[in-house]
Amino acid sequence: LKPYVRTRRDHWTMTMATTEPLNQWETAALKTQSAHWRTQYDGLRGGNLKLDLSRGKPGVEQISLSDGLDGVLDGNFIAADGTDTRNYGGVRGIAEARGLGSELMGVPAENIIAAGNSSLSVMHLVLRTATDLGLWSDERTWSRKDKRKLLAPVPGYDRHFALSEHFGIELIPIPMTEHGPDMEAARAAVSDPSVKGIWCVPKYANPTGCTYDHDTVAALAQLPALAAADDFVVLWDNAYAVHDLGDEGDVLASVFDAANTAGTGDHVVQFASTSKITHAGAGVAFIAASTTVLNALDKHLSVFTIGPDKVNQLRHVKFLQGRLQDHMADHATIIRPKFDLVEEIFSRELGGLGIAQWTKPRGGYFVSLDVRPGLARKIIAMAKDVGLTLTPAGATFPYGNDPQDQNIRIAPTFGSMEEIHAAMDILTLCIKAASAEQILAGL
Ligand code: PMP
Repeated sequence: LKPYVRTRRDHWTMTMATTEPLNQWETAALKTQSAHWRTQYDGLRGGNLKLDLSRGKPGVEQISLSDGLDGVLDGNFIAADGTDTRNYGGVRGIAEARGLGSELMGVPAENIIAAGNSSLSVMHLVLRTATDLGLWSDERTWSRKDKRKLLAPVPGYDRHFALSEHFGIELIPIPMTEHGPDMEAARAAVSDPSVKGIWCVPKYANPTGCTYDHDTVAALAQLPALAAADDFVVLWDNAYAVHDLGDEGDVLASVFDAANTAGTGDHVVQFASTSKITHAGAGVAFIAASTTVLNALDKHLSVFTIGPDKVNQLRHVKFLQGRLQDHMADHATIIRPKFDLVEEIFSRELGGLGIAQWTKPRGGYFVSLDVRPGLARKIIAMAKDVGLTLTPAGATFPYGNDPQDQNIRIAPTFGSMEEIHAAMDILTLCIKAASAEQILAGL
């Protein structure tokens, strides 16, 4: 088993013993079945299919849940403190938007900046500030030294990798476990002074769906104190903070409190956004950090902009006020059947064959699939050939390097139920055909 497969909790599914594992089949039977799968697969060619399970975008029905943003202000652009949101200014965002950030992130509003529409852009701001000015307005800039590294729990989020590489930062993979990043590996890695931080997606991680347990949160909060670097930062991307699929979501411990207890409050920076709450391309992003860090960020931010889109911030506050939970439940009602369908088809088509294992997340946007080592690239290419686009092989690992060539990220939110059904039939057929052929080739 890959180390991140959950064994103690029921939301991670393993192949079930309903069928004999494929590698134990009689050779003759396997040959016959393999030929049958290959024929089925060849029959898909020329079908002009155009299916896509590659990117974690909300579907149209989800986006439409927030169309009420349009017009919610009804001509009233004045924020609670009298700020005219149509005008310039207020680089940290309006107070009530910081309040929304506080509700999302569980951090006091005074520790929050409400920014523009993308949390990735504020992650860029934090890396830029850490590199050039330092996050503490002193001599501790990452650019003091040529070599800079960040720890990347794997499998992980490809855009974190791209962002790091953009800044010339080397990525060091750290395995995910069922509890979160492998903290022993992380502690060993931070003895290198060029390691400047760690990426975390602490709730419903992209792509494994893991929510870090309380001990892991506490251990991560202590990491800056153990690090050889004096400018180490925990980059806490809580993109799926309120994105539960069921009525009861996972509970994530407060890293803000844990860091304050550990005396590392200046070394944890948190991110969130409404991208997957309202309109993905027109939301509000948030940074949460200590006063010292926010002051340093202000220096870059205030050169970059005279202020964020405060009208949009006010619209979000008016639209979500007092109903965030209900709104997220509406999202869950739309996407839960899609995740259930993925689970159902994986179980039906692959259960017991011993050729794949997959996650059954309780929230977030992804299902993480592991196929037999050496087959991810091949299966993704086979799917592509018959019209199904999957996330490129290796995307969940830095530099596209999945050492086992076995992880595939599935994003079921965007497509319709019919499209997901068709896509899953193709994917599972590709997995079966490729696995049978690999087993036969090894006999
Ligand atoms: N962080 C994670 C972990 C994500 O999965 C995503 C979207 N796929 C983002 C950030 C992007 O967030 P935003 O739209 O706020 O830039």
